[in-house]
This record gives sequence, structure tokens and C-alpha cells, in this order.
Amino acid sequence: MSTARTNFIGINVSGIQARAALIDDEGRILEARVSDITPKNTAAQLAAIIEELRSQQANVSAIGVALPGLVNRQTDRVVAPRDVPTSMVEDLHGELTRATGLRVELENDANAAAYGEYKVGAGRGSRNLFYIMIGNGIGGAIILNGKLWTGASGFAGEVGHITIDTEGLQCVCGNTGCLETVASAPSIVRRARERLNRDSTSSLSRLALNKSFTAEDVAHQANEGDDFALMMIERTGKYIGTGVATVINLLNIERIVLGGGVMDAGPLILNPIIQEVKRRAFQPCFEATEIVAAKLGLDAAPIGAAMLARDHTAAH
Ligand SMILES: [Zn+2]
Repeated sequence: MSTARTNFIGINVSGIQARAALIDDEGRILEARVSDITPKNTAAQLAAIIEELRSQQANVSAIGVALPGLVNRQTDRVVAPRDVPTSMVEDLHGELTRATGLRVELENDANAAAYGEYKVGAGRGSRNLFYIMIGNGIGGAIILNGKLWTGASGFAGEVGHITIDTEGLQCVCGNTGCLETVASAPSIVRRARERLNRDSTSSLSRLALNKSFTAEDVAHQANEGDDFALMMIERTGKYIGTGVATVINLLNIERIVLGGGVMDAGPLILNPIIQEVKRRAFQPCFEATEIVAAKLGLDAAPIGAAMLARDHTAAH
């Protein structure tokens, strides 16, 4: 019997960067690359990265690509509500398949990251989990009995578009007051800015000295003990906790895994999230759920995309 091991390549593509990894059958990273990409000819640029990784290890059997859009399962086309380069929305799947000669699986980035965490990160040991990625946007994914549950047409888990404030701001999705309009990284900056402008006591915050601060700066200042930054992070945690309570009540799910750049604030954001869930969720549901931070950081999506490619390949 052949014992040759096969490897997989997972790539997470944003508008400007591709994070690629060569992954073994157990989900371990053998080689990794981070490359800047331009919005045109995405398929050709990804094919070049894939070729470079394949030159390190020949026996690659499938490729998983995670991207910030939704993937229509019937057509393998990307449905992009946001700032996805048009070359991705065209026939990325077909072009990559032709360029590499390998099986290619496209997947939404939150779904891929969820699968990565489920297989080798903070989701290990659970059967059912809900993953939430809180970064420039807010995405979510559901894993039931070890499989991504993507819904009737591939779009399940959009927790970022749960309504938190019925009187709230317009969201990119067309609704108003979505979780994403108050808890994504750009929303944290907007809320902090608004408050600095109208509340003179907050001028003591070091954030007031820096005109172009980011959500990362808010988290950093909170960790340094800045009261205003701390309050902004805690309030963000409350919003996220309100969304998580809804998820828990709906699914009575075993584990919630929270990832994405906003979670880099660590316990400063995780604790208020858990407190708010405890306050709002149906008590028996809350008690049955573990709420934990993701473990794989930016590697979650490439690892998950590769493992999805592995598992889809195995099923065919
Ligand atoms: Zn929305």
C-alpha cells in the first residue's frame, strides 16, 4: 500500500494581500508566504504563489482559497457584497483550476477560518461550534457535527448583520443598526472619534492626540490603562455579547470561538462579551456554552481553506 503523504495549499485573499500556506495532512504549516497582490489578474498572481509553494513540495493534491465574499455553491462564483476586486468575482475558480491543474475549492474567509479553528485551533474537541470573525467586517460560520453548515444557498452564519440597534446607522447590507455598524474595527474608530468630539473629559485620553488612530491603537491604549480606550473596548464587548446571546439562544451551541483583529484586545474584550452574554442569554443555554478566543490568528483561514480542500477531495 502506498504511504505517500499528500499536502494541500490554503490561501487567504484580501483585496491587497494573499497569505498562503503549504499544509500537511494533519493541518500543520510546512511553508508560508505573505504576498502583496494587485486587484487585477488575481488568478494569475495566486497561481504564481501556488507554483512557488509546489516547488518546495511536489505532492500537493488540492487548493483551498478563502476570500472576503460569499461563494455560491451551485456556480462556484463569488458573490461580493463588499470591496472584493472584480477579478475575483469573475471566474476565479475556473482560471485557477486551469492554471494549476489541481482541484480548487473557494470558500468564504469566515467559513475557512472557522474550519481551521475547528480542526486544529480553539474549536478542537467540540462537535458543534459557532465562529465569529471580528475585523474590518464581522463574519460568522456554523459547524454542526463536524461539517460547515452553510445554509440553503451558502450564506449562513452572517452574524455581523444581526440587528443590534433598530435606530442605528445604515449598514453595507442595506439594513440599519447591524452588529457590524458598531463592533467592526472601523466602527470602533468611528464611535471613539464621535465621543472624543462631543465629550471634553475624554480629551485626557491619549487617543485624542493621534488624529488617525486605528482600532488596534484603541486596544493598545486600553491595555496601557487609558480609561477612555478601556470604556470603548468594553462597550464593543457588550455589543458583541448581545449578538452572541442571540446565537446561543437560537442554537444552544456547544462552543463559541471569537477571532479576528478586534479580539487582539484579549481579556479586555472577552470578559465584557461573556458578562453581556450571561446577562442576556437564556440561562440553561449560557451554561452549556464555552466562549473562547480563537487560537490560530491569521493562519486560521489558510489552514481551514486547505483542510476544506482536503476533506472535499476525500469525499469525491
Ligand atoms: Zn448589515
